[in-house]
Amino acid sequence: MAQRVLILGAGFGGLELATMLSEALGEEVEVTLLDRADSFVFGFSKLDVMFGRTAPDAVRLAYRQIVKPGVRFLQETVTAIDPAARHVTTDAGSHEADVLVLALGADYDLDATPGLAQAGNEFYSVAGAERLAGILPTFSSGRIVIGVCGAPFKCPPAPSEAALLMHDHLSARGVRDQCEIEFVIPLSSPVPPSPETSRALIEAFAERDIAFTPGRRVTSLDGERSVAILDDGAELPFDLFLGVPKHTAPPVLVASGMIDEVYVPVDSRTLETRFPGVYAIGDCAQVGVPKAGVFAEGAARVVAGSLIARAQHGEQPDPYDGRGSCFIEFGAGRIGRVDIDFLSGEKPSGIFRAPSVELARDKQQFGSSRRARWFGAEE
Ligand SMILES: Cc1cc2nc3c(=O)[nH]c(=O)nc-3n(C[C@H](O)[C@H](O)[C@H](O)COP(=O)(O)OP(=O)(O)OC[C@H]3O[C@@H](n4cnc5c(N)ncnc54)[C@H](O)[C@@H]3O)c2cc1C
Repeated sequence: MAQRVLILGAGFGGLELATMLSEALGEEVEVTLLDRADSFVFGFSKLDVMFGRTAPDAVRLAYRQIVKPGVRFLQETVTAIDPAARHVTTDAGSHEADVLVLALGADYDLDATPGLAQAGNEFYSVAGAERLAGILPTFSSGRIVIGVCGAPFKCPPAPSEAALLMHDHLSARGVRDQCEIEFVIPLSSPVPPSPETSRALIEAFAERDIAFTPGRRVTSLDGERSVAILDDGAELPFDLFLGVPKHTAPPVLVASGMIDEVYVPVDSRTLETRFPGVYAIGDCAQVGVPKAGVFAEGAARVVAGSLIARAQHGEQPDPYDGRGSCFIEFGAGRIGRVDIDFLSGEKPSGIFRAPSVELARDKQQFGSSRRARWFGAEE
């Protein structure tokens, strides 16, 4: 009987895993890929939506386009997980698996930051980005605060990108001189594992007159006074607040009893949880790497390699290396890149590649190659 692999979550991690298993094993494996949504959206597309560079419908990749030997996609919401029995309950029924892979990503906890939902905006969901796309064209003077409400958060460079793209957006509309931009982040620098990348970003902020406050977290917003309150008690007045909400594990994982701290603990070499045959990859796992699509993909490759090796009686893959390359928008059509290595050295390290139009093309290629591999779209 074909091995039954049940993948919960069709994001970066789930899509890469299903694709690799199908490519290597075809009908020899029975992959069920399950997601509550009907489509996938790249994280970086949210910035494009927010700044009106594209329409929300244009960035949605419908799961119904997935046609892969051995893989079936089901649009269902996971409501309970029994990791010991590898039994999953959804809003449409239940599933048993030989191998269960948790790839459910991280959720946002807006309520953890009082006032954020009422007085602020977030740009980390498609709905939030879409809402801001309606607000930004009418904002022509005043103070914009871009603030992070908790760490770790997805794609650490994303709020820096938002600040730089905000400068471009306001400049293009001829209102930059009437606006101030302030950026607050709880990390000690924009990209701590790469001092070179952080220096380049801090220089870019200074050149564009963007006020930058590292090492501070936004704890609440006071809508009546229009101030953001930081973890040292300082207050930042704003006319428009753009927040990165505090992240948390999806509630169904919390209820499953698999979590000790905030996310699902795994063996960082194999991504296996303490439950045999149950793996966790990507943002929902606690591995010691940043929450980003490229790391979710890397983890998926290790799990896929291990399952393929088992099916083909081959050698197990090398342990997960925690490496990934992140593109960073610097504005004016130029994109930089940082190549990060989180697990193989004594401490995390990163190599910076300066922003250029060539790297902007590479980022395009990054997106289109995945659209082709995962969804069969033309490159
Ligand atoms: C503004 C922004 C910019 C970003 N830029 C980049 C970038 O340039 N490069 C990069 O690598 N990363 C980037 N990221 C981060 C990246 O999007 C995430 O880290 C990545 O998607 C994580 O992959 P994942 O597979 O772990 O989870 P996800 O891709 O989040 O997928 C999880 C899936 O699980 C599903 N799900 C959750 N709960 C349930 C449930 N109960 N039942 C059924 N389904 C459920 C969700 O619908 C979702 O489809 C960015 C993120 C943001 C917000």
